[in-house]
Amino acid sequence: MKNGNKKTNFLLDVLNEKCPKCRQGYVFKQNVHLLKLPIMNDKCDTCNYRYDREPGYFLGAMYISYGLAVLQGVITFFIFHYSFPSLSTFFEIVMVILVMTILGRKNYKLSRVLYIHIFPW
Ligand SMILES: [Zn+2]
Repeated sequence: MKNGNKKTNFLLDVLNEKCPKCRQGYVFKQNVHLLKLPIMNDKCDTCNYRYDREPGYFLGAMYISYGLAVLQGVITFFIFHYSFPSLSTFFEIVMVILVMTILGRKNYKLSRVLYIHIFPW
């Protein structure tokens, strides 16, 4: 896809949390405290595209976030289960919970950005 004279890539734009319309502005505020929930911008700084259209708009993003968390948990479990067969199941479950907790913040942002890229207004 082309935007002006700059090439864009859907996957890179989603991973970099870019605006679904202009692919230049950021959906989330940058450099926010790591232990707090990410803060979403109301609209794009570049093209004024409004991100939060209506109450409950991002309800569907919860399904994406859930899917990502389950996928990451299953992958983590299999990595630890087959790479370290002597580990106890309890430790494998602790590692799954740890990885899911660490990636929770990124999942929150990624699911919302992916949702507005899939279902733009
Ligand atoms: Zn924009």
